[in-house]
Amino acid sequence: MRCDLCGGRVEKKLISYTLFYEGHWIIVENVPAKVCQQCGEKLFDPEAVERLQKIIWDKQTPQKKIKIPIFDLSSVHL
Ligand SMILES: [Zn+2]
Repeated sequence: MRCDLCGGRVEKKLISYTLFYEGHWIIVENVPAKVCQQCGEKLFDPEAVERLQKIIWDKQTPQKKIKIPIFDLSSVHL
């Protein structure tokens, strides 16, 4: 299979999907996707998209939570 955008080789992978939703970052692991090896474009199959929507719409409880360090570049000087 080839990438629609650049024609590069597309590989099936399990990726982490990151989403900003209602003021929170959400990470969903083990999302099956086809990833272009050239430009990084990700294609999700419709079934995976449905399961992603289910997590959000059903407000499911996450399997784990992590703390994410956030930096402000405007406070960093060389
Ligand atoms: Zn591509």
